[in-house]
Amino acid sequence: MVYGVGLARGMGVTLKTLIGPAFTVQYPDRRVGLIGAARAYGISTPGLIFKRPIKAMRAVLGLERIDVRPAQAARFRGNEFTWYEDRCTGCASCAKYCPLGIIKIVTLPGGTNVQEGESYALDTFEIDTGRCMFCALCVEACPYDALHMGSNFERANYQRMGLVLSKRDLVNQPKHPSTWYRPQMELLDYSPFADELDDFKQAGRHETPSVERLTRRWVEDRRTSEVNEADEAVED
Ligand code: SF4
Ligand code: SF4
Repeated sequence: MVYGVGLARGMGVTLKTLIGPAFTVQYPDRRVGLIGAARAYGISTPGLIFKRPIKAMRAVLGLERIDVRPAQAARFRGNEFTWYEDRCTGCASCAKYCPLGIIKIVTLPGGTNVQEGESYALDTFEIDTGRCMFCALCVEACPYDALHMGSNFERANYQRMGLVLSKRDLVNQPKHPSTWYRPQMELLDYSPFADELDDFKQAGRHETPSVERLTRRWVEDRRTSEVNEADEAVED
């Protein structure tokens, strides 16, 4: 072991950051010049000058601004939630696991899914995001993949009550769940920023798996691991 290598590496990273270009993201909008404005509006620079002279003039004067959407990872946890009512059984596991006790669930006996046994009817499902620390323990606790972290973070509000997500909000708002703790969505190549995931079946992992998937998991993958184990045993 050579002493000091880790220290030298760390100092190298510090030095690289010190002399490298600054990385600053302006949000929610940024100023653009003539070329930047033309690029943002999807036309050529002469096109901008002749077709939209006022915007071109503003860009020359440094007054034109365009909206900026910062890059986010698909697993980013925003300050909202996505909830699929069709998947939710009203078991209240999410509410029990929430360390702050800010999920309120009121159920009534007698849901509609009689064939599979009586389920609860959901009267109230509320999350007070004004007090939430977005730890996502509730999402981890949900056994039915009904509750997901959301990806939106632009929910500033003048009223604290406006930060309480009611059942109606959760049902009606666009569904852009984060892929955090939800690997099935990454298998779908789903992007929270480009796609909406309305289909409650695609949101969960508990649907009957396809024959191909079962075959891959229980036959092909096993056979490969058995062959690998046999090879390792021969080498030993
Ligand atoms: S993210 Fe954490 S604090 Fe927020 S509702 Fe879920 S469990 Fe509670
Ligand atoms: S969201 Fe999940 S954990 Fe919460 S009540 Fe519904 S099924 Fe149960």
